[in-house]
Amino acid sequence: MRETRLYHRRVIPSHVQPWDRCDPRRLRRVRGVLTDIDDTLTTDGTLTMGAVAAIAALRAAGLPVIAVTGRPMGWSVPVVETTTLSAVVAENGAVALRADEDDGVAIEYFQDEAVRVANAARLREVAACILAEVPAATLARDSAGRVTDIAIDHAEFAHLDGAAIAKVVALMREAGMNATVSSIHINGWFGDHTKLTGARWIVQRLLGRDLDAERADWVCVGDSTNDEPMFAAFPLSVGVANIVDFADRLARWPGYVTTLDRGRGFVEVAEALLAARSR
Ligand SMILES: [Mg+2]
Repeated sequence: MRETRLYHRRVIPSHVQPWDRCDPRRLRRVRGVLTDIDDTLTTDGTLTMGAVAAIAALRAAGLPVIAVTGRPMGWSVPVVETTTLSAVVAENGAVALRADEDDGVAIEYFQDEAVRVANAARLREVAACILAEVPAATLARDSAGRVTDIAIDHAEFAHLDGAAIAKVVALMREAGMNATVSSIHINGWFGDHTKLTGARWIVQRLLGRDLDAERADWVCVGDSTNDEPMFAAFPLSVGVANIVDFADRLARWPGYVTTLDRGRGFVEVAEALLAARSR
């Protein structure tokens, strides 16, 4: 643990505080949690028992936990079905899924059907261009569940070096796409939506509340460059410890960093929120 702390002190900017120093009086006012999934809730690709219990404990304490991820709609359906997450915003803000008493899982899209149909052909064209121009690139294995974006695997089952990642991002942007890099994939999509606009949308749809008016009272948790719009928007933004893996690529750091990594870091966030409320 001591070595971890020393390492963190070297690579984490000095304005980023250790999470355990966050004032409990601020944490007591928190009204909800927005969290990334991969390498934030999950450890080695699995939602751990600790993370599942942390989500349930937060919810039992009256705090909605909403996951905001670059993962696809199809991948997110069983996540909604098997956890107590209040909702999942998938495909970087394009799709919202929540448990529904009548339908099982209710799914809503940010873009209307005509736009999605028109974009589908363009998405296929850009994907084909990337696979032709970056020989090492492969589509993410979860691509079948994607509706509004394309994803190239850089660290889930494949490995792309920094130059190849940059080339893929450049090709996406040249095609007029929004592009972002998560801990495992490079995602590209047409439209201005992001994790942040998706979070705003679902808080309004699910809770009837204005997230912008409550920004100081929501915690957001993440681990990589695709969480940067969230880190920039929320004063109580937290990176799990493995965010140091992205130290040289992050333009915007979270306000706080946990001591532990991945799902264990999320548990650390939940424990502090629950402890502050029980005082
Ligand atoms: Mg992640």
